[in-house]
Amino acid sequence: MENVKDLDPEIYALVKQEEKRQSDKIRMIASENYVSLAILQTTGSVLTNKYSEGYAGKRYYEGQQIIDQVEQLAVQRAKDLFGAEHVNVQPYSGSPANIAVYLAFLNPGDTILGMALPHGGHLTHGAQVSISGRYFNAQAYELDAVTGLLNYDTIREKTLAVRPKILIAGHSAYPRILDFARFRAIADEVGALLMVDMAHFAGLVAGGVHPSPVPYADVVTTTTHKSLRGPRGAMILCKAKYAQAIDKAVFPGIQGGPHDNTTAAIAVALKEASSAAFKEYARQIIRNAKTLAQSLMAKGFTLITNGTDNHLMLVNLTNKNISGKRAAKALDKAGIVVNYNAIPFDTRKPFDPSGIRLGTPALTSRGFKEKEMLLVSDFIEKVIADPDNDLFLQQTAEEIRILCSNFPAPGLEHLCKPESK
Ligand SMILES: *Cc1c(COP(=O)(O)O)cnc(C)c1O
Repeated sequence: MENVKDLDPEIYALVKQEEKRQSDKIRMIASENYVSLAILQTTGSVLTNKYSEGYAGKRYYEGQQIIDQVEQLAVQRAKDLFGAEHVNVQPYSGSPANIAVYLAFLNPGDTILGMALPHGGHLTHGAQVSISGRYFNAQAYELDAVTGLLNYDTIREKTLAVRPKILIAGHSAYPRILDFARFRAIADEVGALLMVDMAHFAGLVAGGVHPSPVPYADVVTTTTHKSLRGPRGAMILCKAKYAQAIDKAVFPGIQGGPHDNTTAAIAVALKEASSAAFKEYARQIIRNAKTLAQSLMAKGFTLITNGTDNHLMLVNLTNKNISGKRAAKALDKAGIVVNYNAIPFDTRKPFDPSGIRLGTPALTSRGFKEKEMLLVSDFIEKVIADPDNDLFLQQTAEEIRILCSNFPAPGLEHLCKPESK
């Protein structure tokens, strides 16, 4: 980054500080990860200079000799990896991908049915503050009050009652595996399209440790930057019969030119995600989550659904007499970065809810295994027991920095070379 250093020392210094933060801390925000150096380099390549509105072979600008090949590679790799009939790799991110699906199939005022935001659904699944809730008749299903699990009988009843045009499955904070066949059967009862948003667990699907929604859903949306470990971006996978509707909705429906540097980096990520090493990565994400969940429960923590089958867990801190926000702030000071999160039927306010969400994709990328998860569990227990002891939090942060220095994060290996310590 020598050129940035010369031209813009302020931004240079901030990037370097962020590198250090990402290297020194245990990052447990379930949607975050570390991309490889190859993906960082591709994202920073000259492909950022190109305009290419349209699709391969049908562009509105000349000079697409290379870009067409890049996009076709990304599309083909996504089709191969996920077994999809058609893929659009142009959405700028997960939210626009979902909005494009609505534009493809809905008119304003049409009904959609998704998981309620405070129960783990996403903003774009019909939250009132989102365009998805303002322009459409957004209805929501909730988790079971007793088990914290999806209750497919209730989802079915709600679907029969509101008869959505699109039934949405997918989440940002649900620690269990979804029953896509069941969702399909429910959608079919009312002739609804089934949309699965696999933003969070796409990497687990790619790695073969989570069932794939692709055979069941009409449309699957996903981000590329969460467990899939690619650049910030998104994809829409769909049946061949919806290809044209989806492509038109993305461009010219809601977007102009695609971000070709991102498209190339998505292609690289898909190549990485097709490897045997990535399958092992996905398995380790789950082993790490299960180990941490078991250990936390053994220490008296309450986990929503009593555990996890995927890459994340939701901890209800009510019995620990600490709010989610206070816990998250103390953990951050101690070098463990999480987010506070509402729990199902939370009695506290969304800005200071009862829970925290913990995810294992990022720390698994830097090589943490079961042994380290037990250390993480100990750190979390001690911090939550003593959240106002700043000296202790500082000492913990230093211990964690030393632990992390033995696990160089992808893209940040240079920070862990002995001479830089
Ligand atoms: C993260 C997420 C998105 C949105 O992704 P952005 O890239 O932040 O717009 C959409 N759906 C779900 C379920 C997500 O978890």
